[in-house]
Amino acid sequence: MIRLERLTKTYGKFVAVNAVDLHVPPGELFGFLGPNGAGKTTTLRMIAGILRPTAGRIWLGGDDLLVDPMSAKRRLGFIPDRPFVYEKLTGAEFLRFVAGLYGQDGAVVERRIDELLELFELSVWKHELVESYSHGMRQKLIISSALIHRPECIVVDEPMVGLDPRGARLLKDIFRAFVERGGTVLMSTHTLEVAQAMCDRIAIIQEGSIVARGTIDELRQQTTAGDASLEELFLKLTGGEAIQELAAILSEEAGLRGQKSETRSQESGIGGRAAGSGAPKPRGKRADS
Ligand code: ATP
Repeated sequence: MIRLERLTKTYGKFVAVNAVDLHVPPGELFGFLGPNGAGKTTTLRMIAGILRPTAGRIWLGGDDLLVDPMSAKRRLGFIPDRPFVYEKLTGAEFLRFVAGLYGQDGAVVERRIDELLELFELSVWKHELVESYSHGMRQKLIISSALIHRPECIVVDEPMVGLDPRGARLLKDIFRAFVERGGTVLMSTHTLEVAQAMCDRIAIIQEGSIVARGTIDELRQQTTAGDASLEELFLKLTGGEAIQELAAILSEEAGLRGQKSETRSQESGIGGRAAGSGAPKPRGKRADS
C-alpha cells in the first residue's frame, strides 16, 4: 500500500507538488499522468526517499517513511527515469551489491539473481561488465535490481523508455503478476496507451495538483467526455486544447508559406500567433536537486 497525505514540495516560492493526497491499495496498478513539469518525478522521488518533502506524509505499507525510513524503504522497489548503474560491475555483481544494501546475501540472493537475469533474458550477460550493456539491457538490469529484495511496492518513473516491444510486454506481464499477488505499483508514464491498457486507476497531475483521478470510466464521467480515449481526456483535463490550437496554427502557417512562395503576394501577418496564448510557458526553473 502507498499512501500520500498532503504531500508538498516547494523550491523557494515555487510549489512543485501541492498537497497531494493519494491512496494506492495492495493489488492495484496505479498510473500517474501529467504534462511535462507537472510534478510526477518530484512526487515519485519523495516516495523513494531521495527528496525530502516540504510537508506531508508518505506511508509505505504500515511504515511512515519520514519516521521509519529504513523499514519503509525495505518495502519499496524504485525504478527511476534516469537509471544509474556502475559501469565496472558485471550484471550479477550489480544485483549482489543492491541486495547487500538491503542486508541480503547468500544462496537465496544468488538464486534470485539467476531467476531475474533469466526472466529478463540477460543470463548470458551475467558476467559481462555493465559498460557493455545496451540502453535497454541496462533498463532491464535496473528493473531487476528494484525487484531483488522482493519489495511489496514498486514505484516506477517512465518504465517503458528504452525497452523494445518484447521487453515492454514482459514488463507489463511482470507488473500485472506482481499486483495479482497483492503487490502495489505506482507508475508514471507519458505513454497514454500504456496507461489505458495497464492501469486499474489513474491520477492526472497538473501544476503540482491532482486534477482528476479514478478509473478511465470514472474520468470519462468527470469530464463528460462520452467514450473519449485517454488521450482526449488527458488533453481536455490538462488544457491541451492550446496544443491542438498551436498545431492548427502551424499547419495554417505552413499552408500560407506554400501559397506565398507560389504567388509572392502581400504579407499574411499571421507569423506572431504561435508565440501567443497557445505556447506552453515554463512553470519554474530547475536548480540542482
Ligand atoms: P516530466 O514529464 O517533464 O518529466 P514531471 O512531471 O516529472 O515532468 P518534475 O520533474 O517533477 O516534473 O518537475 C516539477 C516542477 O518542479 C518543474 O517545473 C521543475 O522545473 C521543478 N523542479 C524540479 N526540480 C527542481 C529543483 N531542484 N529546483 C527548482 N525547481 C525544480
